[in-house]
Amino acid sequence: MTKNNTYYDKGLGGGRNTLDARRFWEAAQEERLIVQRCDECDEYVFPPQDVCAYCWADALDWVEVDGEGRIHSFSTIHVDIHSTWGDRVPYTVAFVELDEGPFLVTNVVDCEPDDIEIGTAVEVTFGELPAEDGLFPQFRLRE
Ligand SMILES: [Zn+2]
Repeated sequence: MTKNNTYYDKGLGGGRNTLDARRFWEAAQEERLIVQRCDECDEYVFPPQDVCAYCWADALDWVEVDGEGRIHSFSTIHVDIHSTWGDRVPYTVAFVELDEGPFLVTNVVDCEPDDIEIGTAVEVTFGELPAEDGLFPQFRLRE
């Protein structure tokens, strides 16, 4: 499914409109989380890039991951500093380490901020963000 005039067509957010990042965002619209994996060293690589961050091989393929990981660090925003985000305050921005290794900067949703700790197990879910079109990978607590 490709919608016209979506966020990546607008070129918002820097990097979303690159050829490599487009694959990631298109998969997200299908509620699939994909990252790159190196055919040479088998490491998982994110964010999207042209060569492997571990061995510099030009051998990166996209693979779907199960979207499970743990909170590496996080910060909960309690102050409504911009009207776009006002309805979501408080919201949590987290650095999630996927089980496969890569880190994603993301939101943690569907829980109270006090439920989140370093090391909390999370899983991907897909939702919309204010003032953006399309689905974004976010994370929720894993049972
Ligand atoms: Zn490699």
